[in-house]
Amino acid sequence: MSIPAGYPVERAGVEYGCRCGQRRPLTHLYFCRHCLHLRCPYCISHEVDSLYCANCLENMPSSEARLKKNRCGSCFDCPSCFHTLSTRATSIQTKHSSAKDEPKTDAKPDSKVDPKAPKKMYYLSCFNCRWTSRDVGMPDQPVATGGWPEQTSIYSQRISQLQDHYKALALQEKQSKLEKERKKFIMSGKYMTLTDKIGLTSAMARARVTGSSSLITTGDGAPIAGPATPNANPNDLPADIFTKEVNLKYVTNMEQRLIQPEYQPATVDKLFPSAKQLFIKRSQRCRQCDHNVTKPEYNPGSIKFKIQLFAYYHIPEIRIISCEPLKSGKSSCLVLKLSNPTGHETFINLQALAIEATVTPEETSEEVKPENEEIKSRSQEIDNEFAKMEITCNAKLVPPEEKLCLPQRDDASEYVEDTHNYNDDTKVVVWRKSNKLAVKMEVVPDDNLTAGDDVCVGCVLSYTYTNTVASTPRAPSTHTVSLNVYLHLGKAVEE
Ligand SMILES: [Zn+2]
Ligand SMILES: [Zn+2]
Ligand SMILES: [Zn+2]
Ligand SMILES: [Zn+2]
Repeated sequence: MSIPAGYPVERAGVEYGCRCGQRRPLTHLYFCRHCLHLRCPYCISHEVDSLYCANCLENMPSSEARLKKNRCGSCFDCPSCFHTLSTRATSIQTKHSSAKDEPKTDAKPDSKVDPKAPKKMYYLSCFNCRWTSRDVGMPDQPVATGGWPEQTSIYSQRISQLQDHYKALALQEKQSKLEKERKKFIMSGKYMTLTDKIGLTSAMARARVTGSSSLITTGDGAPIAGPATPNANPNDLPADIFTKEVNLKYVTNMEQRLIQPEYQPATVDKLFPSAKQLFIKRSQRCRQCDHNVTKPEYNPGSIKFKIQLFAYYHIPEIRIISCEPLKSGKSSCLVLKLSNPTGHETFINLQALAIEATVTPEETSEEVKPENEEIKSRSQEIDNEFAKMEITCNAKLVPPEEKLCLPQRDDASEYVEDTHNYNDDTKVVVWRKSNKLAVKMEVVPDDNLTAGDDVCVGCVLSYTYTNTVASTPRAPSTHTVSLNVYLHLGKAVEE
């Protein structure tokens, strides 16, 4: 499950406030049970856990994926409609093949085999748009798994040259940094060899002895990649470019060209299948304490998680059941449904939202672990971004005074008669059923509202959370967690 970072486009009915000031629906949030705080997608760090092909579900270590340019070796996408290509088998007569159906180029007639025996050949075909590898003249293959001819870009040599150049440059910078470090060590009377520390290669050591040169060179002294030189005579356009009538059937569209940036075919006869891009499974960490909030199973076929701290499973859910028409300055009746998704009983207390509490930036004093500089500057950036977000509540909530008890979630409760007796005040609790209840309260929109204004009311949801983290002492510990919740009640009406 992934949560888009770019929310919100539209305000949802009920939103929960993250510690950074961002407001999101419950399903878009995570709950870190080490910090006991909500975390929005901006407050967690994302990391690549594993790479896999979504078609053949093959796992790949990241080093191999980098070598293969993050593409699968055996699966291909249709260059025309980008649907996954399928391998199709066809049987052909090796000797007396009818040239009309089977334009074969590489099947050599074998004298030892019965010339009449059919031979199986394979080609790639798109079930969506009917494109086949025969359309572009790719020869059929005798094996179903791959061996498809690879295209080579005319710029591939230059690209690898540049890559080598920048790799060498990075190495050189690292070396000079290390040199400084070494000098510091010598100054302080300690001795350190570079080879021990980062595995300095013998080539680098030799370069150090001969003195560092500013130009990065190959073994024979020639630069790895020189600067690009402009072509004095670029290929002229064909003479009939402006006079020949364009047949759009043979011209590729922009998407088809850009899906293969290294070739950018202009006509459909140059559309070759593109290897399927790999997908990633990512795990996410709380940026404050560095604990995982999600961690997927390694197996690409599995949709399960080893760790899944989605807020939806840990925080009472609030839904709006009904709300009387909202008139400015007049009180209306609001009915909310509360449900407890956890396996432990919880006590819920709703309070009106204090004005100063609407924006609660992360308190730095309670940091579990000191953050490093990079993360700090990034969270500062995000804080600044959200400080600009205005949070407007234009109504007052009169929440019930008593605490509401919600039993744990029980999937079998539907079939068992509820024997609990909670002595609820019928003026407050409208109904209750297993881990859910409906609660009635008053809401008073501000006096200055005009008809058509969106009415939003905030409240503080405090509930007892039972923590079952393994690192805590044996018995589960109970904490009171407070969250800001914003209810979008709809538009105010004429009096
Ligand atoms: Zn946040
Ligand atoms: Zn694949
Ligand atoms: Zn297609
Ligand atoms: Zn945390």
